[in-house]
Amino acid sequence: MEEQMNFEFKDEEFEKKKRMLENFKVTFEETGDPFVDAGGMALEYISKQFPEKTIMELIEWAAKVYVVKWNAKLNALFLNSPITQTSKKGNQKILSTIEMFKEIITKSSNLGFCRYCGNKTYLSKAGRDVSCLVGSGTFVNFHHSHEAGLMICPQCAVKYFFLPFGLLSMGNLTILQSTTNYGTEFWKMKTVKTNLDKISRGTSEGILKSDFKNPKNALFKLASELINIFANKEISENLTLYHFTNFAASVDCNIYSIPNPVFNFLSRVLKIKARQWFDFTYRYYHISKSKWNEKTNQWEIKDKIVTEDDYRNCRNEIFNKLLEGRSILSNMTSYYKKQIKKTKGIDSSMAVYYAKEVIKMTSEQINLIKSIGNKIFDLMKEEDAFKKYLVKLEGASKAYQLRSALINIIKKNYSVGNEETIVTLDEWVTYLFPDGQYWGEVRDLLLIFLYEKMHENDMKIEVDVNEQIDETEENNEEI
Ligand SMILES: [Zn+2]
Repeated sequence: MEEQMNFEFKDEEFEKKKRMLENFKVTFEETGDPFVDAGGMALEYISKQFPEKTIMELIEWAAKVYVVKWNAKLNALFLNSPITQTSKKGNQKILSTIEMFKEIITKSSNLGFCRYCGNKTYLSKAGRDVSCLVGSGTFVNFHHSHEAGLMICPQCAVKYFFLPFGLLSMGNLTILQSTTNYGTEFWKMKTVKTNLDKISRGTSEGILKSDFKNPKNALFKLASELINIFANKEISENLTLYHFTNFAASVDCNIYSIPNPVFNFLSRVLKIKARQWFDFTYRYYHISKSKWNEKTNQWEIKDKIVTEDDYRNCRNEIFNKLLEGRSILSNMTSYYKKQIKKTKGIDSSMAVYYAKEVIKMTSEQINLIKSIGNKIFDLMKEEDAFKKYLVKLEGASKAYQLRSALINIIKKNYSVGNEETIVTLDEWVTYLFPDGQYWGEVRDLLLIFLYEKMHENDMKIEVDVNEQIDETEENNEEI
């Protein structure tokens, strides 16, 4: 009798779990966690390709891809999971994965709130076997209430399992997190869709590999691709690249962000001045054993042109500065100076976009600097003394030196009898050097306007374009 009751109990439990498995659904609202969301993005796309499959069947499909096609090479992602455990072979890996997810989905204890999505449901412990960069086992101090691991819901655990389809390998693994549907769509096409195409052609052998090993350069390339693909859309984006590994003892994660103002600047410059942006950033790679050919505008190693394969992963000063929130206007100043004697058209719009979008200069300030530049240019021309003026402005590495150079120019302008002053006191205080504006950027933009004028007027004067322009000192002293 007792045995029979037990049997009935087991049977009831079995039926309940079966129903839970059959009724299990995944919803795809974003959680804000880049790993769960990238996995969710992959699962959503894959489930649309196989609408007849249940979630458990999709898990089985993915497990087969990982084990059979990818040879279980997920060690940088899942530590000691049924897929990566060496003690399990072939089909055992797939069966254990299915059993693990059956258990997670049919759990009926540990009611709580999921640490990723906040849903109230039955939770399971997510160690490094089913998620990345989390503490577990003896490292319980990572977790708020000393739980055995990160406590997560079945939906998030399942999404995580599909993460390998939403990654690119760049030495370490990468996820691109976006704040717009365009960015998510772009990353989905680049990763999940490409994976499925390769799987259907029989050429998929593991997590997709990028040509990039340098995540900073890769992030700018990804941003450029995104802008070009959706060129007819106005996208306002924050892009973040997670460059990480969950591998054994070498767990690591570096995060790189292109903030919204820099993205907006890139977007404008790539739509209107793409060639100029390329020329400018190309010049600022640090390529070992190579030298810059000023005539051909190219990097060369032993008279051979350096190819993109050679420089793609080299350090780029402009990209690094933009990621660190440092100004690139002084680099632009040097770049524009080198263009003075070149025949191809060059204009200051790239610098103006940057000043507006990233430095947040107002139109009034930019227009005033431009008007001052025009007046100084006329004076230089009248006096036929370009070098004299340039040396003073280029050499102003401290605020008082710029102030003194400008005051001398104002005096000169008055003494030659010009009716209009270079700048009024009101303009000086309100627009030229407003509170919170770094004076060095004013000098740099002024020089850029002057170089542009000289270039436009095809000045035949001898300007040593290799002469260094003094870097302004980065303390915002009073002007
Ligand atoms: Zn969750």
